Amino acid sequence: MKKDNQLQEHTSSYYAASVNHPTSYPMLAGNHSADICVVGGGFTGVATALTLAERGYSVALVEANRIGWGASGRNGGQIINGISGLDALSEKHGESITDMIWDIRWRGNDIIYERVKKYNIQCDLKQGFVETAVKPRHLEYLNEYFEERQKRNFPYKYEVWNKEKTQSSLGTDAYIGAFACYRDGHLHPLNLCIGEARAATQLGVKIFEQSPVIDIQHGQKPTVKTSSGGYIKSDAVLIAGNAYHTLDSKHLSNLVFPAGSYIIATEPLPEELANEINPLDVAVCDLNEVMDYYRLSADKRLLYGGQCNYSGRDPADITAYIKPRMLEVYPQLKNIKIDYEWGGKIGITVARKLAVGCINKNVFYCGGYSGHGVNATHIMGEIMADAISGTMEKFDLFANEKHLRIPGTRWMGNQIIALGMLYYRLKDLL
Ligand SMILES: Cc1cc2nc3c(=O)[nH]c(=O)nc-3n(C[C@H](O)[C@H](O)[C@H](O)COP(=O)(O)OP(=O)(O)OC[C@H]3O[C@@H](n4cnc5c(N)ncnc54)[C@H](O)[C@@H]3O)c2cc1C
Repeated sequence: MKKDNQLQEHTSSYYAASVNHPTSYPMLAGNHSADICVVGGGFTGVATALTLAERGYSVALVEANRIGWGASGRNGGQIINGISGLDALSEKHGESITDMIWDIRWRGNDIIYERVKKYNIQCDLKQGFVETAVKPRHLEYLNEYFEERQKRNFPYKYEVWNKEKTQSSLGTDAYIGAFACYRDGHLHPLNLCIGEARAATQLGVKIFEQSPVIDIQHGQKPTVKTSSGGYIKSDAVLIAGNAYHTLDSKHLSNLVFPAGSYIIATEPLPEELANEINPLDVAVCDLNEVMDYYRLSADKRLLYGGQCNYSGRDPADITAYIKPRMLEVYPQLKNIKIDYEWGGKIGITVARKLAVGCINKNVFYCGGYSGHGVNATHIMGEIMADAISGTMEKFDLFANEKHLRIPGTRWMGNQIIALGMLYYRLKDLL
């Protein structure tokens, strides 16, 4: 079996099968230089590279496999405001930064909507995201979300749904209520990632694929070395490999752990059935700690996902793992065929807060979104670009957080993370 980061093509997902512009950037060979070198071609790397290029920097981006090969090209496509750990930051710093945190939580949405328009990226972007209550205690959250927006005169549509409205809007009696927000939404993530990479190259970013970085030589001008025999010397490096990276173990080992999440895609649903289960065409996520998430694709497949596995091992049969969960919510899909199944790795930290920082003043890192990241990666792309160009305020907010590093091997770390997850699963069952 092939290991991660060994020159792989995209996984066999619905997204890879419906990509608009397959990429084929050259492998890195020989000596190059740039103002900034970005390692990793997921949303974090691409969004940062594009922001820096928009500001006039020369940027080289090096990806081990293909643009969007990691979590960014495989995810549920749900644009969900916020960043894991943001509420804790808000509590820690108090009122002085409450407004800044509120703006940060939505910044990724704005960047995505602006870029899709500005660069004409075809990625099936839709507005509307619904969080569903499974347990009575979840109903409290829905009201909190509503009140928070009311307090801030939120200029987008948002609603609390009772059981009946939830049932008629989502074609299931699995939930006892829901909260809908139309500033969040959903899209085809691989087409967004590739579209942003194309926009970056139009602004001069040099992208290299199938070029795993195997070493970073630190110094005044850090140099990145790839297994394809290339070197890039730059003023600053960003490590954006998230759950898939293994670089700079001296500083970064046992900080971010891979957690598996898995998705199945049905065959395109008959129009009547698609209208029965999701007439508003919104993204849906339940409020369990170990949540299920789903939405319709542009061609009306149900993409149904679950965040399941913290052990570091993928299930042998993803459909057998996820389909029963889908049928619990939508028994009417019993005879519908599953066309695609795939999984990917989310980067998770022990305290579920971002792993952000800088080594030797010029090698930056950002990852460990610990859950959703479509929006969060775009927030951090801007914050990392700010930091690399010398504006540190928001970067420091995240970088000053202390992290618990699990001693020992990555295997041991995964076991401890898996144990923690067992606790969350039990909490969902109560
Ligand atoms: C199945 C699944 C469903 C998800 N659903 C959602 C969702 O609906 N909504 C949401 O907001 N978030 C979701 N997420 C989370 C979200 O996808 C991630 O948080 C986000 O994409 C992280 O982006 P990234 O760029 O940091 O990492 P990645 O996208 O994983 O990119 C890292 C890249 O770095 C490359 N790389 C690693 N090491 C090296 C190296 N040494 N040299 C060169 N390149 C290297 C990898 O090949 C990879 O392409 C989901 C994740 C998964 C796996």
